[in-house]
Amino acid sequence: MKMTLPDYYPTPVDLPFNRASLDKYFLPETPDRDPGGDGVWLPLQGMNLLTVSTEQIQTLPGGDSPFSTMTSPPLYIGQWQGQPCRLLDIPKEMECPLQLQRQPLRATESKLSVALLSLAGVGQMILHWEQSSQYCGNCGKKLARLPEEWGKECLACNNHHFPRIHPCVIGLVIKGDEILLARKAEWADGRYSLVAGFVEFGECLEEAMARETAEETNIQIKNIRYLGSQSWPFPSQLMCGFVADYAGGEIELRDRELADAKWCKLNQLPTLPPRRSIARHLIDRAEEFIS
Ligand SMILES: [Zn+2]
Repeated sequence: MKMTLPDYYPTPVDLPFNRASLDKYFLPETPDRDPGGDGVWLPLQGMNLLTVSTEQIQTLPGGDSPFSTMTSPPLYIGQWQGQPCRLLDIPKEMECPLQLQRQPLRATESKLSVALLSLAGVGQMILHWEQSSQYCGNCGKKLARLPEEWGKECLACNNHHFPRIHPCVIGLVIKGDEILLARKAEWADGRYSLVAGFVEFGECLEEAMARETAEETNIQIKNIRYLGSQSWPFPSQLMCGFVADYAGGEIELRDRELADAKWCKLNQLPTLPPRRSIARHLIDRAEEFIS
């Protein structure tokens, strides 16, 4: 298994966190299918995966649980390389055992393979769902697991609840030989990315893209085309990527979250997001859309 993230992903489907990166190694299953017996652990602690490092290779710990006092029981999520894989939700304050190393999932230079990073992403989304689906949103009673799925049911009011994955849009806007980049105040100095945001009630993806661009930068767009998507487990989004043409307007910062927005030529790009993100994938493809 390749142990560092590649410099190039041929299509958005190949990006980390999408299931395609996992297919060869992971068979997803639900907790009620736990076959018992030994397996491997997927220990997540906040935004970190805890791994065993041997000769620059990161693997998942196996054998007895590396944690003596657990606050929540292990959760079976499927077969990793033919072995039962169980998710561990490690409290942030707990010390990392000596034999394990913390691997930040959002690191610019990750030591994890695409497959392990993607598995950890699936684990993050499952933990987020498990934490937010303990009680019925309708009547407040405790929820029970539905067999063979991640959905849950309320035995008191019979409502069913299913994992919530939030659609977001992100877009490359082209004006002549320039692209529109924006930066949030909280990002590292000089780092820019694409306009992005959550889909609102009643919107299709293209409408959300046009609204977000106008709301954040005062730029109107047209000819909005879908390019691909990426699962984004921070905590549970689906990023839908577009390319669009400039249709009018002058840049004006309208979103308080944005510190700057500007048109950039491809040979004068600032610091960009890491290659594992669809934002960077779209920026790297900009040349295709510049006439
Ligand atoms: Zn209920």
